[in-house]
Amino acid sequence: MTKKKDKANEVIQGSAPDPGATDQGSAPDPGATDQGSAPDPGATDQEGDINLPEHDPGKPQEGRKIEFLVIHCSASNLPKHDNAATIDAWHKERGFKGIGYHFFIRHDGTLETGRPLDDDPILEREEIGAHTLGINKSSIGVCLSGIDSNDFTPAQFKTLSRLVETLEEKGIEFKIAGHNFFTDKKSCPNFDWREWVTDNFPEKLPE
Ligand SMILES: [Zn+2]
Repeated sequence: MTKKKDKANEVIQGSAPDPGATDQGSAPDPGATDQGSAPDPGATDQEGDINLPEHDPGKPQEGRKIEFLVIHCSASNLPKHDNAATIDAWHKERGFKGIGYHFFIRHDGTLETGRPLDDDPILEREEIGAHTLGINKSSIGVCLSGIDSNDFTPAQFKTLSRLVETLEEKGIEFKIAGHNFFTDKKSCPNFDWREWVTDNFPEKLPE
């Protein structure tokens, strides 16, 4: 099992020194100059096959159960922001330990993994998302790159559909909603997610 190791890594990350501290002396390669490189938020998947960790829906823990897939937007349509690493950096600046979403979908439809999903329960404490106030423990967060309803591409929605189907195949039951379903203070994801859900997964429309 790699879970123990993963958790250990998370613990180490969580207790990392103040990000303002310089750690040049501890760099493994003193010759390296890529100080600006962001940590890898997860494997990218150019081919489009979605590989998720094994999930055993029969082992809920502490009453946690996934109820929603929450759709977000990145609130930027700049090409340089069209990647999970940028979101990871933004969220770290906001004090999160890393990207708050579990998945990120680029303009070209590439799926990137953000915060990991674990096996039992699907969200270990370290894997709980940081994306939707009040339901982080019971939801999976996916972010589409873009800010305006015109930004989102057919390729992105195709990947979103495949993500939904893949999660279903894992035995996870959930409704699909946009971030703004849960708060009046957000317009995110800035497109008519109800229409998309109705057209593609009508049984997953929340009441
Ligand atoms: Zn959002």
